[in-house]
This record gives sequence, structure tokens and C-alpha cells, in this order.
Amino acid sequence: DPRLNAISDSIRVIPDFPKPGIMFQDITTLVANHLVYKHTIDIFADRYREMGISVVAGVEARGFIFAAPIALAIGAKFIPLRKPGKLPGKVISEAYELEYGEDCLEMHVGSVGQGESVVIVDDLVATGGTLSAAIKLFERVGAEVIECACVIGLPEIKERRMLNGTPLYVLVEPR
Ligand code: IMP
Repeated sequence: DPRLNAISDSIRVIPDFPKPGIMFQDITTLVANHLVYKHTIDIFADRYREMGISVVAGVEARGFIFAAPIALAIGAKFIPLRKPGKLPGKVISEAYELEYGEDCLEMHVGSVGQGESVVIVDDLVATGGTLSAAIKLFERVGAEVIECACVIGLPEIKERRMLNGTPLYVLVEPR
């Protein structure tokens, strides 16, 4: 698919952000290109339109940029998964390990029902820790995560195509 080359080419790499040694994959340049942004959403929407998906969840904050337009395109509801203390209603939380320390994702209680079919979207998957926490939130409320979808995935995890038993769909590798 020639659109994948355009998507990869549009991602800017910023060395040593936010820490020395990290090659940050910056998707702001992808979404600033209307055609490439549209290609990205089209690829995901075409994949999920016929899968009976009722929920597209985005991981704060860059996941929102891709999840919301996919939800609109396929006629599903958009659910934000947020960092602690941001959602105003009652939440369930799932903590996960970072390289240094811990973080947490929260979801509004009652936003997703038992038996719903979910796709979870983020910009990038590295270790899979963030997405694994997101999957657990939905499992706890009895929803089924059909797949996790990311624009960028490290080669190891991209080739594995699974995250603890949940399929993983990735468009490109880091540049
Ligand atoms: P994981 O939990 O190790 O898979 O890391 C994935 C999370 O880290 C995602 O929420 C990404 O948004 C974020 N992340 C890590 N490195 C980058 C990067 O280079 N660009 C954009 N996001 C990144």
C-alpha cells in the first residue's frame, strides 16, 4: 500500500526528546498534512467498518487524534481513556509500569457496557504496557477488545501482532 510510505515519510523524528537517547516519533507533522492524515484514518476505518465495532477508545493524548475521526467514520462511539484525575465522573483505574515508576489510565464507569466490541487506538506502541492496561479496563466491564490499533510500532511488537492474546494492528515502524 503506497499510502504507508507517505505516512512513514510524514513522521518527524526528534532526537533526545524528552530525554537523551530517545528518538521521539512526532506525529504532529503527519496530522498537519491533510492528505496523509486522511489516508491514515481511511486505512483504519476501512478495516474496522465491517467488524461490528461499537466503541473506538483513544489513549490520552495522541491516541485521541486518531481514535475520534475513526469513530466518526465507522459510526461508533468515542471513549477517551485518560490520565488520573482528569475525568469528572466515577472512574475505574488501571495502573501500569513505566521504565521509571508507574502511570495509570482511567475510564468513566457506565460509558461502555457488557458485550460491546472495542478497538483501542494510540499513536505508538513500544513495550505494550499502556495498551495492556487499556485492554484490562474493558475486560473488567465485560467488553471485548477486538483489536488494538497504532500508527507506529517497534519492529519486535509489530511482528508479534499480539498483545497478551489481543490482536495488534500497526501501520509503520519508527523511522
Ligand atoms: P508503551 O507503553 O511502552 O507501549 O509506550 C507507548 C506509549 O508511549 C504511548 O502512549 C505513546 O504515545 C508513548 N510514546 C513513547 N514513545 C513515543 C514516541 O517516540 N512518540 C510518541 N509517543 C511515544
